[in-house]
Amino acid sequence: MNSAPHVGRFAPSPTGPLHVGSLVAAVASFLDARAAGGRWLLRMEDLDRPRCEPGAADTILRQLDAYGLHWDGAVLVQSQRDDAYAEALATLQAIGVVYPCACTRSQLTQAPRNHEGEIIYPGTCRNGLPAGAVARAWRLRVPDVSTRFHDRIHGDLEQNLADDVGDFIVKRADGQFAYQLAVVVDDAFQGITHVVRGADLLWNTPRQIHLQTLLGLPTPVYAHVPLITNAAGQKLSKQTLAPALPETGCGAVLVRALAVLGHAPPVELEGAEPAELLAWASAHWHIENVPTHPVVAKPTQAPDNLP
Ligand code: GLU
Repeated sequence: MNSAPHVGRFAPSPTGPLHVGSLVAAVASFLDARAAGGRWLLRMEDLDRPRCEPGAADTILRQLDAYGLHWDGAVLVQSQRDDAYAEALATLQAIGVVYPCACTRSQLTQAPRNHEGEIIYPGTCRNGLPAGAVARAWRLRVPDVSTRFHDRIHGDLEQNLADDVGDFIVKRADGQFAYQLAVVVDDAFQGITHVVRGADLLWNTPRQIHLQTLLGLPTPVYAHVPLITNAAGQKLSKQTLAPALPETGCGAVLVRALAVLGHAPPVELEGAEPAELLAWASAHWHIENVPTHPVVAKPTQAPDNLP
């Protein structure tokens, strides 16, 4: 048996309150850690300052509490971690794998896109800035090789970063460190051994593994849980107007989240409180029973939304 301590985490972005899709990711990472007798840490990913909403971080903490998702230790807040990210960027600069980039978003609109809809950077600034251009961001030079990784739910996967992503941003034009850099620095800093998060981030994993390798950081074990989409197939999010998780009647919502994760509680637990549901689910947790496919949210019960 593996005796290494299991450390999981939930890393919400405080761009708004949690919705049922974020609850699924929170519950899965919580159960995965608790079922292994491990710790479950919380990190507030408030790096993208323009997108953060005042008060959302407090709302998220309150919502997690209401759902019985009690985290260990202090919350790590990314906006207080710029020094650590700057140090990682300096390491990447020292080993010569990043370069300044002058491209604006509008200059890249014609660039090809990958299956996630992301721009595949065409390498415009890779061999030096065009004459007269001003550096705006820092990009990481990616290798033209296949990165293989294992996901505990999706199995063995691989991606060629050069073909599917291109050189990606580690520090943005607005001076903010990019998610990809911050996430690997913080996962290592918090000693995370097991990352469990939404499947929208599945294809970010090779970028993160590549950064971990360059920075000499350990690679955690990954698992990506199903997304909840609306009827149009869009991920629930603030942009798609997903309703905030209610803070009353949490048991019934939790039962739905557990069903999405392939761990529907027995009928005797209908009407149970979150603590009892989570205790049952952590005793029955088998991550290999979590489905891979997205789940369409039930239409809201609000009367004005009924046909
Ligand atoms: N902050 C990201 C989000 O809310 C999650 C990042 C991660 O789990 O790696 O989508």
